[in-house]
Amino acid sequence: MQNRASVAELKRMIAQSGRAVVFTGAGISTESGIPDFRSPGGIWTKMAPIYFDEFLASQDARNETWRRRFAMEEIFRAAAPNRGHRAVDALVRRGQVDAVITQNIDGLHEASGVPRDKIVELHGNTTYATCLDCSERYEIAELRAVFERDGAVPPCDKCFGHVKTATVSFGQAMPVAAMRRAEQETMAADLFIVLGSSLVVYPAAAFPELAKRNGAQLVIVNREETGLDRIADLVIREPIGDTMGEAVGVN
Ligand SMILES: [Zn+2]
Repeated sequence: MQNRASVAELKRMIAQSGRAVVFTGAGISTESGIPDFRSPGGIWTKMAPIYFDEFLASQDARNETWRRRFAMEEIFRAAAPNRGHRAVDALVRRGQVDAVITQNIDGLHEASGVPRDKIVELHGNTTYATCLDCSERYEIAELRAVFERDGAVPPCDKCFGHVKTATVSFGQAMPVAAMRRAEQETMAADLFIVLGSSLVVYPAAAFPELAKRNGAQLVIVNREETGLDRIADLVIREPIGDTMGEAVGVN
């Protein structure tokens, strides 16, 4: 690690905090082999996004949405939590971090051991699907088998609603309960640690600003510069796994 002084400072800030919140973005999961869809060259810059209204209105749009999702399945299924996820999990288990707010949809915090009730998913979760009307849960592997056989994902067994990955699509409303919870956790925190987010996607990126305004200390660990570096108390431009692993004492 080049930045030993910064890691020591982060360690000190965590030790002194009474209640910390971790906020994660794509950067923590790229270290697990999941591409950053929004980055330059990422698939969301190559393919036109399918908006939520189109998904609702058109069978072709639904089929294309599922085709894209299944094409990603090998990557999601192969991805395992990395040292950064393990460090966050350790902080939760030690009672030093009260909530993990994430922009990621890959389910890797839960896979690393963080209890579900400590995770706030702002953009949902792509590792399973739900009915848009009754919220019945469906598994990706089963939907894929039907899609490959019939060329479409069938409507909900219970209510005939559309079935979609449990993610927030472009043009879809942010999940109200998750947004409220994220705000409450942010307001209760005295230390707010951003891991791997460029903090450009609003409204999610408003949380670190809110934390700072509310008197919390703000730490940003991200490879590139972010929009909030100027108000942060500590900025570390190093890989997340090594930085957090050293600061927390986790391999
Ligand atoms: Zn349903």
